[in-house]
Amino acid sequence: MSTSLPPVHVIGGGLAGSEAAWQIAQAGVPVVLHEMRPVRGTEAHKTAGLAELVCSNSFRSDDAETNAVGLLHQEMRRLGSLIMAKGDAHQVPAGGALAVDREGFSAAVTAALEAHPLVTIRREEITGLPPEEWDSVIIATGPLTSPALADAVRALTGERELAFFDAIAPIVYRDSIDMSIAWFQSRYDKAGPGGTGADYINCPLDRDQYEAFVDALLAGEKTSFKEWEAETPYFDGCLPIEVMAERGRETLRHGPMKPVGLTNPHRPDRKPYAVVQLRQDNALGTLFNMVGFQTKLKYGEQTRIFRMIPGLEKAEFARLGGLHRNTYLNSPRLLDPTLRLKVMPRLRFAGQITGCEGYVESAAVGLMAGRFAAAERLGRPLRPLPVTTAMGALINHITGGHIETIDEGPRSFQPMNVNFGLFPPLERALKGEDGQRLRGSAKALARKKALTDRARADLDAWLAADRLPAAAE
Ligand SMILES: Cc1cc2nc3c(=O)[nH]c(=O)nc-3n(C[C@H](O)[C@H](O)[C@H](O)COP(=O)(O)OP(=O)(O)OC[C@H]3O[C@@H](n4cnc5c(N)ncnc54)[C@H](O)[C@@H]3O)c2cc1C
Repeated sequence: MSTSLPPVHVIGGGLAGSEAAWQIAQAGVPVVLHEMRPVRGTEAHKTAGLAELVCSNSFRSDDAETNAVGLLHQEMRRLGSLIMAKGDAHQVPAGGALAVDREGFSAAVTAALEAHPLVTIRREEITGLPPEEWDSVIIATGPLTSPALADAVRALTGERELAFFDAIAPIVYRDSIDMSIAWFQSRYDKAGPGGTGADYINCPLDRDQYEAFVDALLAGEKTSFKEWEAETPYFDGCLPIEVMAERGRETLRHGPMKPVGLTNPHRPDRKPYAVVQLRQDNALGTLFNMVGFQTKLKYGEQTRIFRMIPGLEKAEFARLGGLHRNTYLNSPRLLDPTLRLKVMPRLRFAGQITGCEGYVESAAVGLMAGRFAAAERLGRPLRPLPVTTAMGALINHITGGHIETIDEGPRSFQPMNVNFGLFPPLERALKGEDGQRLRGSAKALARKKALTDRARADLDAWLAADRLPAAAE
């Protein structure tokens, strides 16, 4: 144990900060974990426990063969995750999902960190940029980062780069869009920076389809803001699509669904009455977001209503839309591949504040931030994970994989769950036992299986080359 080394400071003892602190200490580096609760609370946390689950008690699917979050669980277990170990130990029955007894889980994480000889826990709020003598800091203060610290980070990164609200438009898998109906074209064929003039996927609606779509939006069941969310101001340009529809039946046709500057090559004789545009969301070109379609519709309603759009009848969604109170960085622009803030590399970020979404994803980013900080302190190379692994794909998306567009709204980077759309596509076509190309659901299943097999093989190779010890399997 290297107790003579200066400590790494971790701010925030949630899912990400607890995992980061554990990884650092397990690597033999002292760590000081600063958690403001119970001295100061947040609007959502109720206890003083570390790694408190603020809402559901589910870590989602535990299927590592065909589910991206299940694969993430498996990878985290292999990397000695505290969050996964205590989640497993406090599991409650939930079918194929991993759900946990929240109190037992949080108490076990707290006890493990309190008992670790290299971990010091300080119950205090950090109210500004960390003092200069803290040469290695991980900020993992989550979606409800206290205002004083959020203001300090915002002053450092710039107004536009730290949001207090997410406005998520649904994201669709490119290969589930029917291109015999939709087509590629930018409005007026304009090639913006880095564009070709055919960057958007366009879905056309005729008048009847548009009217039916507006009716469905108006009638669709919505979720409501929590009281404290309703009081948080959010940017204009982020109005939910159903609120726009409420303002008048033509509002959408003059807003995100305007049909101008576009010609449908499938029906050049007929001008669309309205058009839904989807914009490439990741460098791989596997994900497309529905431009301007942020919404508070319930998830089931979103799937039903958005599949009314011609070309999206069979759309599969990598994530559905939403609007929440959420403090998060424009990470693809601000962070380097090892999660350091480019303008002040002594600061790393981890957890939901980096623009990942979810308990497990937050802990996963904390895990890697902790490993990077420990390796740096020990003078070892910082080795990012292969982008073919679930953890590597997620961190790659956060630190550069997302394509930023700045043509409208406050900014385009929105929080992301882990999903197969973040993984580089397979190099070979999948064939069945008869040597024929697979199709339909058999193809989808085989693809997921091949992606997770590739991830496991690549993680094996990475672990074999890594000098930090991996947990025993
Ligand atoms: C209301 C709400 C409900 C959610 N529900 C779910 C859900 O059901 N499932 C899901 O997967 N995800 C959910 N999320 C999203 C997300 O996964 C969780 O917020 C997750 O806890 C994020 O982990 P984190 O470690 O980044 O942040 P947190 O777990 O929130 O941890 C951040 C910690 O930092 C502390 N802190 C903040 N500021 C300071 C400061 N200045 N100094 C010291 N300490 C500070 C906080 O007290 C907190 O303990 C929800 C988010 C919110 C806001």
